[in-house]
Amino acid sequence: MEKSKAVSKKKYYFATLNDNVDLRSLPAGYNASKPPLSNSCDRCNKKFEIFDEHKGLMLICSHAYHYRFYGEINKCDYCLEYYKKGVSCNVKSYLKRLGEDTNW
Ligand SMILES: [Zn+2]
Ligand SMILES: [Zn+2]
Repeated sequence: MEKSKAVSKKKYYFATLNDNVDLRSLPAGYNASKPPLSNSCDRCNKKFEIFDEHKGLMLICSHAYHYRFYGEINKCDYCLEYYKKGVSCNVKSYLKRLGEDTNW
């Protein structure tokens, strides 16, 4: 039987909580190849301003985009990539186990 991989013990410091938070407790964006920026657009890396044309939105994954970019892509590419990798990895593991199991 294949041993499971070690789970990442990466933590992020949250100033508002004054504490380190385990990666597993955070939204999907923190597991993606590019973790969410603080008060900046995750597409163009520029800070959000108070002027209307620079406003953006934060998604449930914690990535944030200027409205004009989110309107173009309509999804979070970083998290979509993260989920695709996870699904692919799980399917490969499942198919491998099906191939090994001769008792059914
Ligand atoms: Zn932007
Ligand atoms: Zn995201």
